[in-house]
Amino acid sequence: MNLVVVSNRVSRGKPNEPMTGGLAAALLPIVEKSGAIWVGSSGRVRDGNQKEPFAEIEALGAGALAMLDLPAAHYGGYYEGFANSALWPALHSRADLIRASHEDYLSYREVNAFMARALLRFRKSDSAFWIQDYHFLALGAELRDLGVTEPIGFFLHTPWPARSVIGGVPHHRELIEAMLAYDLIGFQTEEDCENFLSYAQADLGLAVHDGVILSRHGRTRAAVFPIGIDPQQFAQLATKASTHPDVSRLRRSLNGEKLAIGVDRLDYSKGLINRIKAFDRMWTLHPSLARTVSLLQIATPSRGAIEAYGNLQSDVAKLVSDVNGVHGEVDWTPIRYLNKGYGQAVLAGLYRTAQVGVVTPLQDGMNLVAKEYVAAQNPVDPGVLVLSKFAGAANELDTALLVNPHDIDGMARIIAMALSMPLTERRMRWEAMMAKLRGHTIQQWFADFTDALRECQLDRDALAPVIAEPARWPLRSANNNAPRYH
Ligand code: UDP
Repeated sequence: MNLVVVSNRVSRGKPNEPMTGGLAAALLPIVEKSGAIWVGSSGRVRDGNQKEPFAEIEALGAGALAMLDLPAAHYGGYYEGFANSALWPALHSRADLIRASHEDYLSYREVNAFMARALLRFRKSDSAFWIQDYHFLALGAELRDLGVTEPIGFFLHTPWPARSVIGGVPHHRELIEAMLAYDLIGFQTEEDCENFLSYAQADLGLAVHDGVILSRHGRTRAAVFPIGIDPQQFAQLATKASTHPDVSRLRRSLNGEKLAIGVDRLDYSKGLINRIKAFDRMWTLHPSLARTVSLLQIATPSRGAIEAYGNLQSDVAKLVSDVNGVHGEVDWTPIRYLNKGYGQAVLAGLYRTAQVGVVTPLQDGMNLVAKEYVAAQNPVDPGVLVLSKFAGAANELDTALLVNPHDIDGMARIIAMALSMPLTERRMRWEAMMAKLRGHTIQQWFADFTDALRECQLDRDALAPVIAEPARWPLRSANNNAPRYH
């Protein structure tokens, strides 16, 4: 199988440069090892009327990286517009933040079509395409329109919300129908997958059986593939990072004080405001914890051109300043707040220095930071993970201290509990989490998805004569459950 992986952003794999998010962090090692070609945006734009989209191609381990300049006229409407101001808020159950014009939707579709045309250049006789994330929901349908018959899989790194929430996205019906051109759609959790299937059945009126949706495109399998990390590699990074100057300076600055760490993109889904309020509450309820624990919050700037993100940045900065003003002392800063990104080679050392990792998103597809924090711990003296029950990672890391990120008092109590947890309990919880991480590595995720994609192809080949006549598939009407035939 000649695999072509597609995502909006790519990574060149420099461990000293920050990752642009979990998706890039996850794909990098598998492209490097599998020999796949990874196609994505170069981050630059240019006039989109050119016949041949410009691509910079370079080697990436055993694989290759191809970076395209996306069409200038549509980039804003696609990226800041439809993808990040309509789809992202909806996928994170924030329908109240959906803002997108009809032009944004058209730009989104244009960029999907542009990417499809560009991909033809990388197509070979035994190609398979694996499309990543919400930027490219319609890319499979565009490829099919161009005559691509090879297997096309899709993986969604974010959650998939309840039907009523996704129904708030303009053109949701047309978009989700387009998604059914994929042979295989992967989700992070059972709940995401069930939400999607229930939309297909109830809103699109399609027949769904055993995770397979029957539509005019043929069969689409929806299944769960929780994304993992390479825990061994992260543990090695963390050991090596202990001598990194940033990590040594952090350790020296602590003077025996404990450290809690949060590492997030500045995004409203990450629950930063509630987390900071929980620390505020903890220091108010337990004044003895002042000077004995501080929070290092790395908040990497993200999508700053979008109003909701700009507002969040100033709200978080103001809250941090208020909390430091109330609880700080002349020689003690409760919250060390950094608005910049770090390479994973340093991050791993920062995670290992912290006795508590606080990962409290309001909604998150998986949250790789949670997994990385666990993998980076010292096995003889591991820290404690405080994890939101609304992060996908909570399904696997169920021996973390799970919290409700909307319950500020509850989080304050549990963070204090984490700080005083005895070593035996810390080890027991950590070992159980490590076993999960070792059982579901990023390499396993890749193998599971690509195996399932191959199986879909076999099924499709076997059913080809039937699928050529879509009229045979019984469909259920959106408004009543009686079977109908198209
Ligand atoms: N990350 C990084 N440098 C930073 C902050 C984050 O390299 O300063 C990486 C982090 O190691 C993780 C990814 O970015 O691999 C964040 O992924 P996650 O799934 O936690 O969240 P996302 O940003 O994708 O929503």
